[in-house]
Amino acid sequence: MNILVTGGAGYIGSHAVQRLLADGHQVVVLDNLCRGHREAVPAGVPLIEAGLLDGEVIEATLREHRIEAVMNFAALTYVGESVDQPLSYYENNVAGVLSLLQAMERAGVKTIVHSSTAATYGEPATMPIVEDTPQSPINPYGQSKLMVEHMLRDYAVAHDDFAFAILRYFNVAGSDPQARIGEDHDPETHIIPVLLQAAQGKREKAYIFGDDYDTPDGTCVRDYVHVVDLVDAHTVVLGALKPGDQRVYCLGIGNGMSVKEIVDAVKQVTGVDFTVEIADRRPGDPPSLYADPAKIKRELGWSAKFTDTQTMVADAWRWFQAHPEGYGS
Ligand code: UDP
Repeated sequence: MNILVTGGAGYIGSHAVQRLLADGHQVVVLDNLCRGHREAVPAGVPLIEAGLLDGEVIEATLREHRIEAVMNFAALTYVGESVDQPLSYYENNVAGVLSLLQAMERAGVKTIVHSSTAATYGEPATMPIVEDTPQSPINPYGQSKLMVEHMLRDYAVAHDDFAFAILRYFNVAGSDPQARIGEDHDPETHIIPVLLQAAQGKREKAYIFGDDYDTPDGTCVRDYVHVVDLVDAHTVVLGALKPGDQRVYCLGIGNGMSVKEIVDAVKQVTGVDFTVEIADRRPGDPPSLYADPAKIKRELGWSAKFTDTQTMVADAWRWFQAHPEGYGS
C-alpha cells in the first residue's frame, strides 16, 4: 500500500515507518520536525516538511504519491505542557487533524489509523481500562485527543466508505532492537529515558514523583508496551480495516509496572546504581493506569510479545549507548 505517515520522524512514527517498509509498503513521511528528527527517516523515504495545518501540502502529497491510507502520529504529547499551553494543543492536535481530514477528503483518501491515548480516560473509576470505560480527560492533552475521536466518529457517520481506527496508547517504551532509531525527546520527561540518562551520568539524579499513592508499593502503576509491539498492532489494524469500519482498541500489555519496579529494572539492565530521590507527586498523574487489551486480541489476534520490562529497558539502553547524543539534531 501507499501510506502517509504523519509524525513519521518522531519516536513512534519512525518505528512505524521502519516496520511498514519491512512489510513492503511504500511510505511517505510528513513531519514539521518541531519534535521529530530528519535522521530518523530512512534514506529513500520522501520527507515532506510540513505540519497537519498545511492542508494544501497534504492534499498535494496524497495525490502525488497516490496515498491509500494515513497513519497519524503527529501530535504534541506532554500533559504538563498542555496545561501551560492549551491553545498549542488544540491547534496542533485538533485543528491539525481537522485540516488533515479535510485534505484527505479533497484527495479521496478514506482510511486513517489515528494515535489516541489513555489520557482520554482521565482518572477512571475502574481498572483495567477497556475500550468503553467512560472517557473524562483531566488535561488539555487528553481533551484534544478525545475531541479528535469525536470528530472521526462524526465524520464516519456522514461518509459510509470512510474507515478509521483509534488506537489508545498507554506507556510506550523500548526501541528498535538494532538501535537504528530510538527515543530522543527534548525536553525528556518520560520515566525510562530519564532513568537511562541518569545511568549515563547526564542527570545527577532521578526523581520518583510520589511514593504515597494507593498502589502496592506507593508509586504510580502504568502499562508499558514495547514500541515494536505497538507498531505491530498498527499494521495488524490497518490490514483489517475495510471501508466503513470504525475500530477502537486499547494498546497495552494488560499488566501494570510501578515506578519503583521500573527503577529496579533500569538499574539491573544498566548495572549503574544512580541516585533516585522521592519527590512530590506530579500534578495530573493518576495512581494507576493499565489496559485490558482483550478486544484487539479477540478481534484481530494481536497481543504484545515483548512484555518483559527488562527487554524494553535493554532495547532502549542499546539505543542510548549507541547514540549518546540522540540524533544530534
Ligand atoms: N515519573 C517519575 N519520575 C520521572 C518521570 C516520570 O516518577 O522523572 C513517573 C510519573 O509520575 C508516572 C510514571 O513515571 O507515574 C510514568 O510517567 P511518564 O512521564 O513516563 O509517562 P505518562 O504516564 O505521564 O504518560
